[in-house]
Amino acid sequence: MNRAATNAIALANDPAICDLRSDTVTRPDAAMREAMANAAVGDDVYGDDPSVIALEAHASQLLGKEQAVLLATGTQSNLAAMLAHCQRGEEIITGTGYHVLASEAAGASVLGGIAFQPVAVAPDGSVSPDAITAAIKPDDPHSPISRLVCLENTHKGLAIPLAAMQAASRAARAGGLSVHLDGARLLNATRALQIKPAELAATADTISVCLSKGLGAPAGTLLIGSGELVGRARRWRKMLGGGMRQAGIIAAAGLYALENNVERLGDDHRRAGALAKHLQEIEAGDPEHPARHATNMVFLTATEAEHQALRRAMADEGVLLGGQSRLIRIVLHKDIDDAKFDRVCGAFSNFYRR
Ligand SMILES: *Cc1c(COP(=O)(O)O)cnc(C)c1O
Repeated sequence: MNRAATNAIALANDPAICDLRSDTVTRPDAAMREAMANAAVGDDVYGDDPSVIALEAHASQLLGKEQAVLLATGTQSNLAAMLAHCQRGEEIITGTGYHVLASEAAGASVLGGIAFQPVAVAPDGSVSPDAITAAIKPDDPHSPISRLVCLENTHKGLAIPLAAMQAASRAARAGGLSVHLDGARLLNATRALQIKPAELAATADTISVCLSKGLGAPAGTLLIGSGELVGRARRWRKMLGGGMRQAGIIAAAGLYALENNVERLGDDHRRAGALAKHLQEIEAGDPEHPARHATNMVFLTATEAEHQALRRAMADEGVLLGGQSRLIRIVLHKDIDDAKFDRVCGAFSNFYRR
């Protein structure tokens, strides 16, 4: 192994490190590992893994839909959903910068022959019903067939209000389109909006929810929807190489997460709010763009002159920051407790010498 890789592993395993790059860095804790070790398992491709069955039943009930299927990742779940909804030559209308369009290597186009039609994203993270209506194509041999609208919530940490989601969904359905919701952080959204997960899920035909982000499971994403759509996604999952056998080991972690780690998402939101306030108080970053927070994320715009030095200085204090170039993304999660949170605030104060 090369030295850089060895160093990276040593760094990531240092318990003192405050890794704020993403909530995907959360590790299974002792209680979750115990649940995994004790999980009853079967062969999920044969449909007889009791832990997977229990997790899927829990998820479909939580979101008020008929069925759920456990997939390996959020990308695989979104892809299986898009392939379940659309045929070759059809298109998906979605927000510019939404994950399915910007961050999933165009899998639906590459593997499914499905086109993407981007529409503008409003400052609150939503796509407007008018933009959706305007993007839906007439039935004309020159055009792909508009089939699906992909929504996202949270988007860049923003919990998009229920009314905006409902309006977008109504516009899609009025045009005869189905709706998929990329709810990788759906439970952060419903927590911030103080609504039931099923209320948000009602705006979509299929919903994808990641277990591996703020919920703290090591892997796994649930796709939830009608029996028909989930059945089709299950076939795609197999074709995509995602039919895992004793997946109960992973499902047990997911079930543990849904039973124990949902309420505590509020702690991450509270700390994100407190960090944004601290950064404003010490006047960190570009004065024209004060730090702001959205659910469990904080966004700090550093000046062009300082952003590299900031990242280096913070890393020297064991604090790893996310995002690219000037726009620094700081994600609060389960493995950042109050003690680590105080260290993070202190490290920023030290850099800005305030
Ligand atoms: C993380 C994420 C995904 C994909 O999840 P992976 O498990 O990393 O493939 C999809 N959508 C959104 C909005 C995400 O944040």
